[in-house]
Order: sequence, then C-alpha cells, then structure tokens
Amino acid sequence: MAMKTCSVCEEEQWEDLVDDEGICESCRKNFAIPRQSPALRPLTPCRRCGGRVIVRCRAIRERGASGGDYVHAYIAPLAATFARATRETLFRKRTVEQNKPDLAQPAGVFEAYICRACGLTEIYTRDPETIPIGPEYATELIEVPSGETPFR
Ligand SMILES: [Zn+2]
Ligand SMILES: [Zn+2]
Repeated sequence: MAMKTCSVCEEEQWEDLVDDEGICESCRKNFAIPRQSPALRPLTPCRRCGGRVIVRCRAIRERGASGGDYVHAYIAPLAATFARATRETLFRKRTVEQNKPDLAQPAGVFEAYICRACGLTEIYTRDPETIPIGPEYATELIEVPSGETPFR
C-alpha cells in the first residue's frame, strides 16, 4: 500500500489512514475537525458591512478536560445537545437509553460564519432535523404561528 503525508501533522502514513482532505485519522480526532461539507450560510455579503470575505468555522470547538487535576485536556465541537447514552441489554438484545448523555455524540453541531471585515458572526447548526427534543436534552420545539413572514 502507498504512503501519504498528513497535511496537519506532516507524518507519512498508510494512505487508507489519510482521508480525501489529506488529514489523518488521529489528527481528525485530536483537532476535532468535522469532515468537509457544503456551507450552511448562503453566499451573501455581510448584512452589517457588506463585506464579501467570510471565515467559515466548520465547528466551534471548545476545550474539555477530564480527570481531577484536568490532566486530559481535549477539544470538542460545541453542539445544541447530546444524544442519550444507550446500552444493549442481554435480555432480547434490546438497546435501551440510559440516564445520562453520551458526550461522544453531540447533536446539532454549531458552525460559525464570521465576516472578515467587521467580525459579525452568524451561527448555523448542522443537521437541525436530527436534534433530539425533550427536557432531558434541554431542547423544545416552539412553533411560529402561520401568517408570520420571514425577513421582516
Ligand atoms: Zn495527521
Ligand atoms: Zn461585516
């Protein structure tokens, strides 16, 4: 198998460990880099200053840490909520939801679009239809009455 150089760590690796963006699996995970995807914000100028250069931040990453003395620091994407942890029961091999969130499963990852000139920042959320709704997720649906129009 051929070797490929990761564009982030610049280490040579087996090519199946380096994806089509040229990033290796461990860098993808360590830097919490979401895969390439279409931009969520329409390609319109900044609504405040008319600026035409936008910084897309594919994930708003936050610092996490675990361990009593915060020895294990990592970065993770900021998201609307987290899925619930599940486990398989031995009985009938059913999957049941547990009484805690699964911190490895953020749902509704936030993206930021920042005007390079004035800094106005718009937040968009990836895959909004997948965000679980309920008090245990700290989410709820509110419906806009019909007759209300956008862009007022
Ligand atoms: Zn790498
Ligand atoms: Zn602007």
